[in-house]
Amino acid sequence: MQILSNFSLKKYHTFGIDISAQYFTEVNTVATFKELQQNPIYKNNPLFILGGGSNLLFTKNYAGLVIKNNLKGMEVINKNEDYVWLKIAAGENWHSFVLWCVANNYGGVENLSLIPGCVGASPMQNIGAYGVEIKDVCDEVQAIDLQTGEERTFTNTDCQFGYRESVFKHIYKNKYLITAVVFKLNKKPVFNTSYGAIEQELKAMGVEPSIKAISDAVINIRSSKLPDPAKIGNAGSFFKNPEVSKQKHDELKQQFPNLVAYSLDNGNYKLAAGWLIEYCGFKGKRIGDAGVHVNQALVLVNYGTAKGEEIYKLSQQILDTVKDTFGVTLEREVNIY
Ligand code: FAD
Ligand code: NAP
Repeated sequence: MQILSNFSLKKYHTFGIDISAQYFTEVNTVATFKELQQNPIYKNNPLFILGGGSNLLFTKNYAGLVIKNNLKGMEVINKNEDYVWLKIAAGENWHSFVLWCVANNYGGVENLSLIPGCVGASPMQNIGAYGVEIKDVCDEVQAIDLQTGEERTFTNTDCQFGYRESVFKHIYKNKYLITAVVFKLNKKPVFNTSYGAIEQELKAMGVEPSIKAISDAVINIRSSKLPDPAKIGNAGSFFKNPEVSKQKHDELKQQFPNLVAYSLDNGNYKLAAGWLIEYCGFKGKRIGDAGVHVNQALVLVNYGTAKGEEIYKLSQQILDTVKDTFGVTLEREVNIY
């Protein structure tokens, strides 16, 4: 195992910002990770676990050890007539895992096609898209305590999944290396086409819903709408959609009749943050190389040489303007370091 010094992270995160790690290493097996835990550099420095780098904004060089998780392996560990249980190592690419499920006709993750990043990060923010979240299919999360080396299994309930939230984003942030996720997928799938865009795309494709058709539809929609990080630096949605009370929603709706909002089971409303930001005039705005995407106001972009602080500053301007205009506080979804 090699530990490199002053290592550029530019190619290791999707914002493409030119920052570096004081120390950097990659782990390919759990045994190598345990060996690494004995190393003085590991013991004496702050630690950062890196997956695909698609949900991160670095605002400065990282003063510590960045550990790139490359743990690989996908296996069926159990099945019955209705379900199949899959153990997927944390370093596997998320979309490759989804395509493997689609090819095997295992249902449950097809709506989550084409999300960048690794399987190990998926429980972190309970990744979600088109009406499905990993909390719907995650059976357990296997992890190692970064300090004690103790192995621990988190049940779905232990993960305390919420909207783009889990225990790993809060009390256990930077406390565990997630090594694998066990998914419980459906052999008799129930399709979720509740998001209008999927139904429209299936119609345009002229096909009936199936695991493969839904995955293809999601891939088509996402490819046509979302900026490709390989071409323009970004980390997906920069902000979460805020939840407000019915009373606040009704007040806003009266003042802003075009407001986009969705009612939730708890009686509150989810506001489309993209709409709020666009209303404030930020869509397509560019300050130097930091910008708001021209087609999707929720996505902040790096046109080339933006610094992390510049993207962060722009995000603060957006937060302040949305707060002044609507009295609603946006929350950043991207992890800031
Ligand atoms: P990273 O960015 O590498 O890490 C994110 C956080 O997780 C960091 O704090 C890191 O320390 C921690 N972490 C990573 N791996 C581990 C591990 N093994 N153990 C412990 N901690 C770990 N997200 C959605 O929810 N839905 C979407 O539809 C979606 N679409 C996106 C589209 C685009 C174009 C982009 C760029 C991003 C999108 N995202 C979306 C955000 C992102 O892809 C997901 O959050 C993804 O799960 C991040 O995975 P990653 O491996 O890149 O994590
Ligand atoms: P969209 O379909 O244009 O919808 C805009 C917003 O409205 C979304 O944020 C979505 O909320 C909400 N929405 C749409 N239809 C809904 C419905 N039937 N019920 C409840 N809420 C609904 O969004 P988009 O930007 O193209 O993204 C499509 C999907 O991919 C969304 O689920 C989005 O979350 C996900 N995505 C996430 C990221 C990320 O980085 N987190 C990046 C790109 C796309 P939700 O966001 O709560 O679903």
